[in-house]
Amino acid sequence: MARKLAKKKTYSNGLQGFSVHTNALGSKATISSLLKERASSPRFAFGKGVTAEALDPETIARAYLQQTLASKAAPSFTAPVVAKVESEFKTIGTEAIPLTGTTTVKFRQTLNKIPVYGALVTVELDEKNQLLGINSSIGTPKGVSPIARISAAEAVTAVSSHPEYKADVTNAVPRLNYFYDVAKSKWTLAFIVEDVPVAKRKAHSRIPVLMDYVVDAGSGKVIATIPRTPTMAIVTAVDCLEANRTFQVKTSGNSKTLLDSTLNVQTFDFKKKDPETKPEALPGSAISNPPSFSPSAVSAHANASEVSSFMRTILMRNNIDGAGGMMISSINCIQVSESVGGLGREWINAFWNGKQMVYGLRLKGRTVLSLSADLDVVAHEMMHGVTDKTAKLEYRFQSGAINESYSDIFGVIVHNFSKPDQGTWDWSIGAGLQPNGRPFRNFQNPPEEGQPDNMKDFVVSPDTDQGDNGGVHANSGIHNKAAYNVLSSIKPDGTFIFTPRDVAIVFYLALTQHLSRTSQFSDSRRAVIQTVRTFFRAQSAADLAERVTAIEQAFDAVGIN
Ligand SMILES: [Zn+2]
Repeated sequence: MARKLAKKKTYSNGLQGFSVHTNALGSKATISSLLKERASSPRFAFGKGVTAEALDPETIARAYLQQTLASKAAPSFTAPVVAKVESEFKTIGTEAIPLTGTTTVKFRQTLNKIPVYGALVTVELDEKNQLLGINSSIGTPKGVSPIARISAAEAVTAVSSHPEYKADVTNAVPRLNYFYDVAKSKWTLAFIVEDVPVAKRKAHSRIPVLMDYVVDAGSGKVIATIPRTPTMAIVTAVDCLEANRTFQVKTSGNSKTLLDSTLNVQTFDFKKKDPETKPEALPGSAISNPPSFSPSAVSAHANASEVSSFMRTILMRNNIDGAGGMMISSINCIQVSESVGGLGREWINAFWNGKQMVYGLRLKGRTVLSLSADLDVVAHEMMHGVTDKTAKLEYRFQSGAINESYSDIFGVIVHNFSKPDQGTWDWSIGAGLQPNGRPFRNFQNPPEEGQPDNMKDFVVSPDTDQGDNGGVHANSGIHNKAAYNVLSSIKPDGTFIFTPRDVAIVFYLALTQHLSRTSQFSDSRRAVIQTVRTFFRAQSAADLAERVTAIEQAFDAVGIN
């Protein structure tokens, strides 16, 4: 007799996923109906004698979106209606994607002019502005009044009087959203206050520098505190002295400064100050030679430069902000409350603080080991910066685990990129760097370092510092394993289906073009498949199908459906 499986609670974001793509077999009928409808119905025509190519991408994308929502060709995709009010879709950005030659236009869902938190629709156009695909995650916040019962000022008061953190609300701007309360599994109306600088009221809790607050607009209670800026879990670094590195500096007379003005990478020395109690002193002092560069400074600067080059040449992304902005690292940071033995001499941590990379240090005998010594750790932190500027994945529950996993994926790929055959790759992250001699994580075999590698072992834990924000550093193993499966998918002849470059690009575009604040594992799967269909659209149908199947199998194998 078949046993009925209990449905395991894995957290929901309250949103419904939908996608069509011209290269998906299952979408063929939908797309061709949409095209016919556009040709025959004046309601959907762009205008007399007007072609798609002659219009701007935003106008075209909106027309495709409105048509698809209204059309009977896609019955499962409609604008959600609540209390007779229909959702609207507001453009939030148009981006030309050089990697695929496509243009993406993103839309945010609103109801009564109020945004639906985490909802996102991505419409993708080809070179001729023809519809390539629509990928979406939208919500129906039924039974929620659009009228706030507290004022914005009361929401700010709730933030500043929260018992756990001391918040600086000087620049706080509360904005109304329909918010899905994960704990109660229901929608509510809430004020969201983004990027609030916080300090802990009690010691011994690891907290980030910036926090988003969610204040229920009915009860006036803070219903969620969401860290904006993830901290890296504990690692130690390899000896900074062991490798010879080549990097660019700025010269002035006989003095050389750690500033690469081509890549826009600069490294600073925080001189053992505390980034938590003295954030205003970041990034610290510029580093010049003479005196000679310390090994820690060399590691941070050379590794940041290498990641910048990878972003520019492989991902065609101009640094973390996409606009060539300066990428700043500070070495020799010590958060005293978290330091080893509370002595303020070693701090085995690293994080992206929303603006720059912050690296601690470890002492090994008389040698200083910087947390920036490891290329995979540096790539991991810098990708948190990219996520922060694009998908803004919440750092809790499944979206937090995906946030961690995407950083790990780029950590592993950047670290091994010089080896074209992924069969020879080193899959450990922070290899042998913890005090116990174990690597920090294992991408190939997550359970080896205590992480689950399948949804059936999903770790349920509370959304607190102690609970690892709902298990973000545990459940990332599930998504990591799916990415490992993609990297190691083989054809019948034993050769790899994807090159490391393919995988880097596909995951990068999935993250930056298709994921949102509350995206779940299943959204990432859909995003990766949608991206494969676009990126490989010039391939034969058989080659494309082989790749899509490989992605489906990679995610199926870890229980992400
Ligand atoms: Zn991380």
